[in-house]
Amino acid sequence: MERIQADAVLVGAGVMGATLATLLQHLEPGLTVLMVERLGRVAAESSAALNNAGTGHGANCELNYTPVDGQGRLKLHKALAINGAYEQSLQFWAALVEQGALGSPGTFLHQVPHYSLVWGEEDVAALAQRQQRMAALPQFAGMAFSRDPGALGDWLPLVVEGRAAGEVMAATRYGRGTDVDFGALTKSMVNWLQRQPGVELRLDHALRRLERGADGLWRLDVDHGGKKVRVHSPFVFLGAGGGTLPLLQRTGLPEARGYGGFPVSGQWLICQAAPVVGRHWGKVYGKAPVGAPPMSMPHLDSRWINGQRGLLFGPYAGFSSKFLKHGSLLDLPASVRPHNLLSMVGVGLRERRLVGYLLQQLRQSPQERLASLRRFFPQARPEDWRLAVAGQRVQIIKREPGRGAQLKLGTEVVAAADGSLAALLGASPGASTAVTVMVDLVRRCFPQRFQSGRWPQRLAQLLPYDPTTGSADAAALGRCRQRCDAILGLKEV
Ligand SMILES: Cc1cc2nc3c(=O)[nH]c(=O)nc-3n(C[C@H](O)[C@H](O)[C@H](O)COP(=O)(O)OP(=O)(O)OC[C@H]3O[C@@H](n4cnc5c(N)ncnc54)[C@H](O)[C@@H]3O)c2cc1C
Repeated sequence: MERIQADAVLVGAGVMGATLATLLQHLEPGLTVLMVERLGRVAAESSAALNNAGTGHGANCELNYTPVDGQGRLKLHKALAINGAYEQSLQFWAALVEQGALGSPGTFLHQVPHYSLVWGEEDVAALAQRQQRMAALPQFAGMAFSRDPGALGDWLPLVVEGRAAGEVMAATRYGRGTDVDFGALTKSMVNWLQRQPGVELRLDHALRRLERGADGLWRLDVDHGGKKVRVHSPFVFLGAGGGTLPLLQRTGLPEARGYGGFPVSGQWLICQAAPVVGRHWGKVYGKAPVGAPPMSMPHLDSRWINGQRGLLFGPYAGFSSKFLKHGSLLDLPASVRPHNLLSMVGVGLRERRLVGYLLQQLRQSPQERLASLRRFFPQARPEDWRLAVAGQRVQIIKREPGRGAQLKLGTEVVAAADGSLAALLGASPGASTAVTVMVDLVRRCFPQRFQSGRWPQRLAQLLPYDPTTGSADAAALGRCRQRCDAILGLKEV
């Protein structure tokens, strides 16, 4: 049996694992890092371009990030947190491009306006109010609103053409939005990592078991085509996407108890007909239908997938018991444990509306899917569009003190109390926030390195400005954006 020792083992070569490995190499050059990936290529699950929507989530257009409370007040804290986290990602990518550690930004990042689109007087009035509040903040300055059919037609011709006269609709437009090919980004980070002396990537290597040895090291059994590889390491990151929960359950850590997973599948309609693609320029987000989870907000997007421009519409949500797109139908039943059984049943019963919505989505006919698309693009022709399967999202089920089991729609890092293992659960807002999530993770898992040593200075060199505090200093944010935009080829419009 082959035996390997590494300072850190990262399980899964998606955007999260690649971001953490890159960050660790910058904080501690020479650290030995082993990345193990069960598939034969990197970024083939959720991080693959076609498996996600590629929205650089800056909260510029996603209406679910600005909920309204019981008193009708617009809540902006979530939008500000997500915007700050995405700004952090841009800052990280800019630093890597500057050092030659990432390929040309045009291979993974494209600027495209972000729009929110609503119909009916009530939603139009709410959108106008939202734009007034947001455009007054430095993070969203420049966000424009219009309900004028002429202006809307200039912004979004395909959305406006073919509508009945007098239809009440409005949109906000934010020019500094982005589309990200997270698959290309991941591959580019991994290319650089493979040139670092301490880093090794093992494809076709699947983690099966892990346990803590008496010496304090984690012992991992990795399967490589039927052969066992034994790995020892003081630190493990489980970044296996939907496959993280079952691995976390095998650690035996008390912190893992009570967690369950709720898989949501998805499909898109994709168009590559040049005359259609060339007439749409934006990511246009609507409101989630009643009973639908927020991540199923329909949107019509300009996309760059493997360098080719196209349009994507969806998602059409659905249910599959797989935790990974290339996973097994037994994933969900196999994740049921005595400690999470009640939570899972409780959430299943409480979220009946959600389950009903997912099943209804799954049963949609091609005509019903076309009708949803035509709500956004009235003159869409079915022959221009093909259906594609998106990645799996495993939403977190978690027991909360005094509240029972809850379905959580965010991302959560579960870490061992001593920081020797961390696991990333959940899928939203996802890849856009990878840098902030990984910076928090290293602070939590390596506190001693931040108390003494050079990690704080190295982190500050990489990320000189912290946009995640929510209360942006307009001048400092402006300087940070100016620098990132110049390197990444974005502009304030
Ligand atoms: C439909 C959909 C739309 C989305 N839209 C957006 C969006 O617009 N913007 C955004 O920012 N985010 C979006 N996301 C979320 C984003 O895609 C994910 O948050 C992100 O890709 C997760 O990266 P990851 O590295 O954690 O997981 P993955 O990319 O899934 O990578 C996990 C890797 O672990 C490997 N693995 C699994 N089990 C094992 C094992 N036992 N041993 C070894 N390797 C293993 C897998 O093969 C895989 O390569 C979307 C997700 C979905 C599904």
